[in-house]
Amino acid sequence: MADALLGPAEIRELAARLGVAPTKKLGQNFLHDPNTIRRIVAAAGLVPDDVALEVGPGLGSLTLGLAGAVRHVHAVEIDPRLAAALPETVTAAHLSVHNADALHVRGADFDPAPTMLVANLPYNVAVPVVLHLLAELPTLRGGLVMVQKEVADRLVAGPGSKVYGVPSVKLAWYADARAAGKVPPAVFWPVPNVDSGLVAFTRRTPPGDIDRRDVFAVVDAAFAQRRKTLRAALAGWAGGAARAEELLVAAGVSPQARGESLTVEQFVAIAAAAKLSPG
Ligand code: SAM
Repeated sequence: MADALLGPAEIRELAARLGVAPTKKLGQNFLHDPNTIRRIVAAAGLVPDDVALEVGPGLGSLTLGLAGAVRHVHAVEIDPRLAAALPETVTAAHLSVHNADALHVRGADFDPAPTMLVANLPYNVAVPVVLHLLAELPTLRGGLVMVQKEVADRLVAGPGSKVYGVPSVKLAWYADARAAGKVPPAVFWPVPNVDSGLVAFTRRTPPGDIDRRDVFAVVDAAFAQRRKTLRAALAGWAGGAARAEELLVAAGVSPQARGESLTVEQFVAIAAAAKLSPG
């Protein structure tokens, strides 16, 4: 029989028994609302044959929900106390616990290979974790993550939006992302002082036949000085403003435009222009 989902009393009791005092440094805010867990699992679009990858299982709230929905769950937890205790809470045999930093895991660490990332992420490393996993694990077909609401807005933003920036473009390289709802602070213990947002994403074909690092270098340069025109913002990257202008024109992008108005495909075109005509 599946383990029951954890409510507020169970979460407090578990933490007390394990002697866990949640730490801010590791973003430890634990879900204690079975309805929210069911909502996350439903919104993730899992199929029974999926292999879920959860980053930061904590006390196991979401892990329990995932274990009931997929054929295998990989749970990557940096805190050794929580990693060691997880199998006591989630007794399902199809669980692998990895006591590791999600920023350093590799594809070879996981068997079977993960197909979906579903996680209530530690908020201070949420964006690097998502980008690292999409880069490292080509078998991931998509996922659903909970992050700070402001970060969720940035991740799903499109060109022209005030919050469109480096995380939006880099995620758009890997996946089509969309907002999948807001989550109030009251469903966590301890209660955070920010709202949370859900982001669902589906892997896409990369927008260009070019090394993503070449594209990301242009993106980083364009947004490092987001108020400047691209001609000026890309001068350092290109080796001079005149050269930046040349490449922008070759890519069909106005040198007077700003990074915040460009699609990921336009960033690809700029990086490709630089490859085609090395300065
Ligand atoms: N999934 C649980 C829940 O919803 O109740 C806990 C989520 S809590 C927001 C984030 C979890 O990520 C914590 O358990 C924390 O210890 C863990 N964590 C923090 N940094 C991590 C990292 N770099 N790699 C793996 N786990 C991490």
